[in-house]
Parts: sequence; structure tokens; C-alpha cells
Amino acid sequence: MPKLKCGIEVHQQLNIGKLFCRCPSFLREDKPNFTVERKLRAVASELGEFDAAALEVMQKDYTFVYEGNHENTCLVELDESPPMPIDKEALKIVLEVALLAKSQVLDKVFVMRKAVVDGSNTSGFQRTALVSTGGSLKINEKKTIEIQTIALEEDACRPSKKDEEGRKIYYKLDRLGIPLIELATAPEIETPEEAKQTALAIGKLLRITCKAMRGLGTIRQDLNISIEGGARIEIKGCQDLGLIEELVRREMQRQEKLLEIKKEIMIRQVSEEDFKKLQVIELSDLFKNSESKLVKGKSIFGARIERMRELLGKELQPGRRFGSELSDQVKAKAGLKGIIHSDELPNYGITQKEITEVKRKLELTLEDAFILVIAEKEKASKAFQAIAERCLQAMKGVPEETRNALEDGNSEYSRPLPGAARMYPETDIANFEVSEKELKEISKHLPLWPEERLKLYTEKFKLSKQLAEKMVLDNYAIFFEDLVKKGFDATQTAVLLLEGLTKISREGAKVESLTEQELEEALQLLKSKKLTKETLLEFLKLRSSNKQASVEGLLKELGTTSFSETQLRETIAQIVQKNSAFIKEKGDRALSALMGEAMKELKGKADGATISRILKEELEKAKK
Ligand SMILES: [Zn+2]
Repeated sequence: MPKLKCGIEVHQQLNIGKLFCRCPSFLREDKPNFTVERKLRAVASELGEFDAAALEVMQKDYTFVYEGNHENTCLVELDESPPMPIDKEALKIVLEVALLAKSQVLDKVFVMRKAVVDGSNTSGFQRTALVSTGGSLKINEKKTIEIQTIALEEDACRPSKKDEEGRKIYYKLDRLGIPLIELATAPEIETPEEAKQTALAIGKLLRITCKAMRGLGTIRQDLNISIEGGARIEIKGCQDLGLIEELVRREMQRQEKLLEIKKEIMIRQVSEEDFKKLQVIELSDLFKNSESKLVKGKSIFGARIERMRELLGKELQPGRRFGSELSDQVKAKAGLKGIIHSDELPNYGITQKEITEVKRKLELTLEDAFILVIAEKEKASKAFQAIAERCLQAMKGVPEETRNALEDGNSEYSRPLPGAARMYPETDIANFEVSEKELKEISKHLPLWPEERLKLYTEKFKLSKQLAEKMVLDNYAIFFEDLVKKGFDATQTAVLLLEGLTKISREGAKVESLTEQELEEALQLLKSKKLTKETLLEFLKLRSSNKQASVEGLLKELGTTSFSETQLRETIAQIVQKNSAFIKEKGDRALSALMGEAMKELKGKADGATISRILKEELEKAKK
């Protein structure tokens, strides 16, 4: 295996309000209340230079359409109003993470603007605040990885749809501004397996704060990968932890194969001139009456690619060839669907006879390859320019670039690596200091590590191992610890938080709307026997849809104000009395039959354990 150098950058959404306005952080799938259109224009830097990535997007002349709802979007997301000060809770959480990872918190925190060119930010930049540097994280028994930076960022808009014809790209505004913790490691990862372990360890670190958002798309990993002799590639947008190993492995393979192509190009003595002077020739006539629907009657252009036979078809990743890389460029730079190259023919209904004709017209020798594009002249010339540039890069090996993670572990070209000078200060927000006092206060109440939690829950709280393991990384863990410290029964509390809430959520209750206060209130009612284990969940169901009602009102609605011990005893005593003959006959074996009757009569008024206890006591009395 080639030598690998890899670093991970994790972006975790926080389950709190937005970072620079006070809108709530949730996504909506229904129709937007409004849409706004914008265009991107690249502006030269103070040194008179244009960012390559910005130029590439601008040339495509897209219109960005933003869709928003009033409920979770305000003028800040639209960049019509200056940002508000950084959210205090978000800052506290990121400081917790920094302290847990022994990262050095900066004396002064500056909010910066990072240029974003794909339209995913209405302002053209993303706000980011570097909070700490350094620190480390243990990823397995033997290895600790150095952390480079921990930052607080605002999330970008969510891609909605694309209208290629109208050159429009749609975004949803709801995600814009959700706080993200960005944690970047040093490039110390040396195997694909370590990449996965690192991502897992970072995930745990972020989750023990109990404020990490859960679910698809809430955590995103970027990978920086290079092999010896290769180049730094940034693979963006991996949302699936299970895919990380494969992404790294396949990128290593891609770089290895590109280095092989470079070597082969040298052996074949291909010169730069060969690529710089591609002869583009119109071939539409050849396919006028073709049997292939793909090309029949279309405007087709072709070019000879000198001495590149069999290299275009060389596999770089499973199912992706060097031809796929050329195709990516043509998609990105000329807006076409792709290319057809000689190493994949005959195919698509194009016949051997037609291929021979193309070869004759392009004056191919046995060593050459050819490429066809289906496009009008102007686009075709753009396409061949992109192809020539990518071939020139192949002479040098691996081009540095940003790539998108694909679902199978492969990746595709997305854009050039952004220039280094794309950060500049956010002038709308003053820098601020994190005081020693504040840090000390936070360090006194740091979340426990998973191992510490497991020990506390099983040994001191006497939770079953199964419940304890589930609770350790749950977002209710810290709340659970607080409740047990306040005297609530650990098992009962854990069962409610881990299982009860899931159950009523499946039954349609809006569990996420229940506040910790409301949950504690319900547990308190259970403790004072105003609710039973059975009615507790029903009560919370009512509470989740009725925030204003008083406790008494809800209990009344429940129709099951629990019986007091005296009331219970009265009812049970009556049942025992009624069945005295039966009890005489059956003795102790009467218990289960009577238990059934009592449960039926007292349904929802008391829990089974209490009923059973009182019933046993009453039976003993009856015997005397
Ligand atoms: Zn807002």
C-alpha cells in the first residue's frame, strides 16, 4: 500500500438556536413562504487577483434562488440585516469540546468571513470563528491524533433543486445559520481504518455534550487525502461514517492509478504540445443516419488525443476511468453531460464502421485515442479546452482539487481547491475575549466521557448494562444525571427517556417539543403517585400537544387522576371481600386471579407493583 497522509474535518450541527440570529434551528419540507433571487459576481482581491473557484462558478452564470419560511428565517439569513452577537450557548458548547480535548482556547476570538462561491450562502461568505488550537484525541489503544483547530461556524443553505436549462440553482434557507462545530485533525491518519476510528472518536467527543444534532445530514466529514507523490485532495460531504474507510481506500487507489498514467505518458513521450494543439473537427455528417439514438442527427465534434490509446479507459476507481475524469471536467466547465471516448467503443449503438470512419477523418494512428462530444460548436470548443487542460495535468500526476463524495465510496470533481487568501475579518461583529473565569466555570461542569458515564450509571445508579450503554451517548444523558441526583429513580427515568418517549413518538406525539422542565414535571407527578407508569406516557402525549394547560387540567383530561393509597386499599379490600369463598377454596393460588380483576378495575389508577403489594397485604388480612 502507498504511504497515506490523511486528515479529517468534522462538521457537527448543534441542537440549539442559530448562531448569528435568534431563529430556531429546524428544517421544513413544506412550501416556502417566499423566494429571493441572487447572482454571484467575482471581485478582484486587493492584490488584483481573482479566486479560481469563484471565477469558475461565475462563468457558468447561475441564478441562485433562495426559499424561506418566516418561522425559521429572518433578515440575517437573507443578508439584509447585520448579524447578531454570537449565540452564548453555542460558544459554551464549543468551549466544552475544546477543554475536553485539551485544546488551547484563544485569548481573543475573531469572527471571520470565508468566501463561498457555490451560492450556498446568501452573502457569498460563511462566518467562522476559530476558538482553539491544538489538543489531542485517542483513536484506538495505541494511537492519539493531534487536533489542529476547533471552530464555531454557521451552516450553509440546503441544496433544493437544480434547473440546468434556466441556469437556476435552488437553496433552502432553513439550514443557513445553524451552529456547527468544526474540528480538524492534523494529517496524521495513516490507514483507511484509522480514518474511520478518528471520525468515530470525534463523533463521541461531540456527542457527550448532549447538544449534537442527530440524524442524516447533521454531521458531515471532509477528508484531506494524499499519497506519496500524489497531491492534496479534499473530499467533501461524507455523511455516512460507514463510508469513510472506503472513500480513503478508493482515493488512494485513484492517486496511485493517476501516477501510473503519468509514468506511461512519459514512457510514450507525449509532449505538452500534443494536448495544447488539439485539432477539433466537426463530425456531424458521419452520424447523420446513424442507428445510435445518442448521436443520430446531432452536432458532433471530435479530436485526436495523441498516443493516449488505452489510457482513457484505464480504471482509476471501481467503475470510474480516466475518461470519467475528463467527463467530470466537461460537465463542470462546459455544462455538457459528458464525453464519448475511443476506449469505450463500440458502445451506445455506434458501429465499428462509424468508428473506422471517425479514425480516418481524425487521422488516427494505432497509438492514438479520440474523444467525441455532442454539442454546438462553442460549447464543444470549451469542452475540448477542458479536456486538454485535464490531460496536461495528467502529465504532472494528481491535480489538487475539491471532490464530492459519492454514495459508493468513489468521488467526482467538484471544483479547484479554494485559494489560501479567502478568509477576511467580519466587520459587523466585534472580537471578544473568553475570560479565565468563564473557562474555569465551564471546566467545573464538563460532560463525562463515555467510560466514566458507564461506570457511574451501572455502579452508582444501578442501571442495567443495557440501559446504561444506551444512555451513555444519548442527548438526555446530562439531564438524566441531574434527575437522578435530584432523587428520581434511575431506572424509571432512563426507561422513560430512552424507551417511553420513542414509543409515544411513534404514536404521533411531538416528543421533540417536550422541554426538560415538562419531563421533570411529569416524573415528579409519577413520584408523588398522581401518575402511574401507564398514565405517565399518556400525560406526556397530552402535554406535547397542549403547552398551556395546567397540570390539574391535563390530569382531568386524562380522566385518571390516580387513586391515593387509601382509595386503592378500599377498592382492593372490596374485591377480596367479594371473593372470600373463592379465597378460602384456593388459598394462595387465588392471588393471580384476583390480581387480574384488580388490574382491570384499577386500570390507569395505579401501577401494577403497587396494586400487587396492597392485594397481598389484604389477602394476608383476610386469612386471619
Ligand atoms: Zn434568522
